[in-house]
Amino acid sequence: MTARILDGNKIRDQIFAELSDEVRLLTSAGVRPGLAAVLVGENPASQLYVKSKIAACEHLGIASALLTPPATASTLDLLAVVEDLNRDNDVDGILVQLPLPPQVDTKRILEAVDPAKDVDGFHPVNLGRLVSGRPGLVACTPAGCMEILRRNEIKIEGANAVVLGRSDIVGKPMALLLMHANATVTICHSKTRDLPDIVRRADIIVAAIGKAAYVEPDWIKSSTGGGPGAAVIDVGTNRITDPEQAERLFQNFPGRLEIFRAKGSSLVGDVHPDAINTAGSLTPVPGGVGPMTIAMLMSNTVKAARLRRASPKFSATQSTASAR
Ligand code: NAP
Repeated sequence: MTARILDGNKIRDQIFAELSDEVRLLTSAGVRPGLAAVLVGENPASQLYVKSKIAACEHLGIASALLTPPATASTLDLLAVVEDLNRDNDVDGILVQLPLPPQVDTKRILEAVDPAKDVDGFHPVNLGRLVSGRPGLVACTPAGCMEILRRNEIKIEGANAVVLGRSDIVGKPMALLLMHANATVTICHSKTRDLPDIVRRADIIVAAIGKAAYVEPDWIKSSTGGGPGAAVIDVGTNRITDPEQAERLFQNFPGRLEIFRAKGSSLVGDVHPDAINTAGSLTPVPGGVGPMTIAMLMSNTVKAARLRRASPKFSATQSTASAR
């Protein structure tokens, strides 16, 4: 049996429809949500990401501003940019596109963002709130993975969840969110022993390691034992360009192979494409987690606007967006 596809584009569209209504209501009450993106230098991938984030703002009626300091900008230059945005009452969300140039102290920049405007959820204050289970702005990719699970009614409570990867932006917050939703969580990393055996016990697998097709189909609990089979959330986005690798990975997917041959590259997740034949359900790459990251950025911006400006109880120190 092939896995149920957990379609991120579809859920993104649902979330956008919900957010459009909320943006309209807020705007008619005089609070038009606003996002400022800081794009340093001319990294083509970063330019593309920021472009799609700005396009999403335009689609939803969220005000957007793009600041483009040069690649030579110093830490102090960027701190001044962030401080200006912190002070600007029309700006609800500040997005500093990573990576920053090597001469810049990235941690210092991220920590300078007002936690109430930290729509990426990277500020230690918001991470701390997540650890202690208090409302805050949650990192977009893990928050998007949770939405995929919830909106597909995948049972999280009591499930064995295995998170592959322990980065600050994906693995760690993901593990915390699953734990707060009452899953039993195992976090794996590059030093983990017996990874296949650990993954085999998982009801929910979140793969965020950045290695193309690393998780083999036979590591994944299938539905043949009578259960539903594991739900697989594939966060990895790896661009492959090697024709031999593409032939190997896409041997059961002639359509994808054809596209690879035409374009000379393809996006592959951390999970082998053949997992579609073992998993109970899985997110495709592309079209799974990626669209959800942007959806949650928009959601965080609207939440920040609501709680920072539209809430009668607003105060600069208390304002954080509650979990959805
Ligand atoms: P990262 O900072 O490079 O972290 C990778 C993690 O994977 C590390 O914790 C590392 O362990 C672990 N790891 C590496 N090799 C492993 C192995 N063989 N077995 C088990 N664990 C291993 O990456 P990231 O920023 O979290 O991103 C992970 C992937 O998600 C990337 O492909 C990235 O492009 C993708 N991503 C996608 C989105 C999206 O919107 N779709 C958003 C963010 C990230 P150690 O800690 O021991 O080094």
